[in-house]
Amino acid sequence: MAPNHLSKPWHEHITIDLLAHVLNRSLFHPFIAWLIPLCQRAVGAPYDSFNFTATCIYASIVTLIWVLGFLNTRIAYGLPRELDWDEEVVVITGGASGLGKILTETYGMRGASVAVLDVRDPEEEESEGLATVKFYKCDVGDAEAVVRTREQIEKDLGTPTILINNAGIVHGKPLLGPNSLTPSEIAQTLRINTLAHFHTLQAFLPGMLGSPQGGTIVTISSVLGKLGASHLADYTASKAALIALHASLRAELTSPAAPEGAERIRTVLVTPGQLSTTLFAGVQTPSSFLGPVVEVMELAGEIVRMVDAGESGEISMPLYARYIEWLHVLPAGLQRVVRKVSGMDRAMEGFRGGRGPGTDNKRPSPRQQQKKALEK
Ligand code: NAD
Repeated sequence: MAPNHLSKPWHEHITIDLLAHVLNRSLFHPFIAWLIPLCQRAVGAPYDSFNFTATCIYASIVTLIWVLGFLNTRIAYGLPRELDWDEEVVVITGGASGLGKILTETYGMRGASVAVLDVRDPEEEESEGLATVKFYKCDVGDAEAVVRTREQIEKDLGTPTILINNAGIVHGKPLLGPNSLTPSEIAQTLRINTLAHFHTLQAFLPGMLGSPQGGTIVTISSVLGKLGASHLADYTASKAALIALHASLRAELTSPAAPEGAERIRTVLVTPGQLSTTLFAGVQTPSSFLGPVVEVMELAGEIVRMVDAGESGEISMPLYARYIEWLHVLPAGLQRVVRKVSGMDRAMEGFRGGRGPGTDNKRPSPRQQQKKALEK
């Protein structure tokens, strides 16, 4: 787990996400909800007593919500696909650091065939003990390089069936004023964060469509793609484009004119808030209770769980990221007040992160940071 998890004061662990997690597994779980009227009966409450009736109604409502949630998932995404781990080949872009690295290590430790596409060389320690992980130096913003790498992966490992589009950079500069974004930085952000997804989809999707077990495409966007933020115009635009790309991809795969094999393709959209990686180092979350920094291991665990289950869906963490789109139904004046009170447009003041060609790529990896934190 990342170091800030180890070094945080105890009260910062109490977040709205933690409370929701506990409630979802206790009072809001149908099994627990039905235990309450059963306990009432055990202590002799008559069937027509207020307490017994009220707790039965409560348990029925909780059960109905669960059933509707289940039906919603099936109607929206259909049945899960069956994974055959002897045949699956995982491609992870940007797998040399941060979230991508944790995903690489997770699959690598399970013995799955993994191809990491990154511009950065892996540190020796990173590939230790991960015999089934192969690193390919590839700029995913370069369409031809992606095609060449795909051909090499097919020779080395087989046809990729799981594509995790994770590579990303951020400059964290304003549009105007001193030290503002240059045209080449804007182009670079859009090339790596957005165009790269088009390149990898066009390179890897045909193989998945032709493969008997189908495939899964994971798109790592950001909650900022739904919000926009000061000093992040290029980044938020690049991430908003991914949300639209994901929706269009789903539409293309489920339309009557969908290519053969499209019914075996699953898609996962990931829209996280701030992660415990170095990409947004120095950024202070406006509220550690309402908008806690997401532990990268936790997010990686959710992604792996959804891919393993063969499901399509959306992963939004922390909790606020799941409901942030409701902000847009508020009157514009109220939206402005919410933005001001939340402090989200001042969050970049302490920014000292960013990663990409020309930036500091020598910051310690999460595993190194964890080691350091444990040594202290
Ligand atoms: P990171 O900087 O730790 O890792 C990104 C990886 O992408 C690096 O290994 C980097 O070398 C690689 N990369 C950069 N340009 C590349 C290129 N042209 N070709 C191939 N690889 C390239 O970042 P992270 O925090 O692990 O973020 C992973 C993803 O999650 C990114 O897409 C990011 O936008 C998104 N995200 C991050 C946060 C956050 O707070 N860190 C929040 C929301 C979404």
